[in-house]
Amino acid sequence: MHFFSVAASLAISTALAARGSPSRSLLQARTVAVHILTPPTDGTTPAAGTIDAEVCSSAQVTAIKNGITDARNMATFAIQVLGVENMQKSNGFFWLFGGDGSTATPDGVAERFKFVLNLNDPDLITSTKPYENSATDLIFTCIPGTAKLYANTVNVNRPTTSNTAPTLNLIRLSSLGLANTESYVDAAQRITTSGDISQAFPVSNGVPQPPIAFTLVHEVQHADPLLDNPQVNHFADQLGADGKRAYGIKQVQQMSPNLKKLNPQNYAFFALLAQSNSEFFDPQKCYVGEQLGSRAPLQCSDIVNGFPGDFTLDYFADGNDA
Ligand SMILES: [Zn+2]
Repeated sequence: MHFFSVAASLAISTALAARGSPSRSLLQARTVAVHILTPPTDGTTPAAGTIDAEVCSSAQVTAIKNGITDARNMATFAIQVLGVENMQKSNGFFWLFGGDGSTATPDGVAERFKFVLNLNDPDLITSTKPYENSATDLIFTCIPGTAKLYANTVNVNRPTTSNTAPTLNLIRLSSLGLANTESYVDAAQRITTSGDISQAFPVSNGVPQPPIAFTLVHEVQHADPLLDNPQVNHFADQLGADGKRAYGIKQVQQMSPNLKKLNPQNYAFFALLAQSNSEFFDPQKCYVGEQLGSRAPLQCSDIVNGFPGDFTLDYFADGNDA
């Protein structure tokens, strides 16, 4: 069954490629099987330190399921905002994806949000074994204890700093990454009300906590099974002007323009701000003119010097850059 579906999807992909069709994302939406790892029901206990020990509690399962739904809604809304005519001339697009040297387009950005829509409804599993070396299965696990990161995405055959030969596709969420179970819409509403982006990330023990959907929009950009063509589409976190990976709101605006469109966090911030302040991305209201060499006046006084607020989200250091 398992191998049959892999073979079938390859055959269909090849047929589509032969016709020059770019619509593999539609195919993927049907073929990526998403799972959540839960405790064994046969009385056994997985060995500590193994992936199979990264089981999710029923509360965590609920959080992940809701987070997936919320992330799809977040992506759908972002795609809608990106569809406005001339949106590349909006002040908001300029700060997150534009500027001299950028070749980002609204359609290109929307493609990345379509990958989020490939996160199908998950089922529950009790062992990762049947999914080893499958290109079409993605497993959510829950890292036990307190990890100093929100999440960690692992891909079959793509080495990371800690795993030279992964055999599973994983999105591993920490208790920190699962801490904020509110909808991204509620987090965005606080930005709308306060004008302060950091309000979307409630701080606990000194650490900002993103809504799960925000984290998932970021992690999807690293997750090979959700991408149309992992060889081309896989993203690693990019370095900002300060030489560190760009996770903060100032960093993602100030990084080299040609890297903005390659950086997962720019997409997460775009989707959040599109919800909280869609006017920033409306060329009729916040017009920055042509991207390259424009001297047109910036007409969006709220963000004439970039989005307000300066905070970092260091716990997005998710180890994909090996
Ligand atoms: Zn990352």
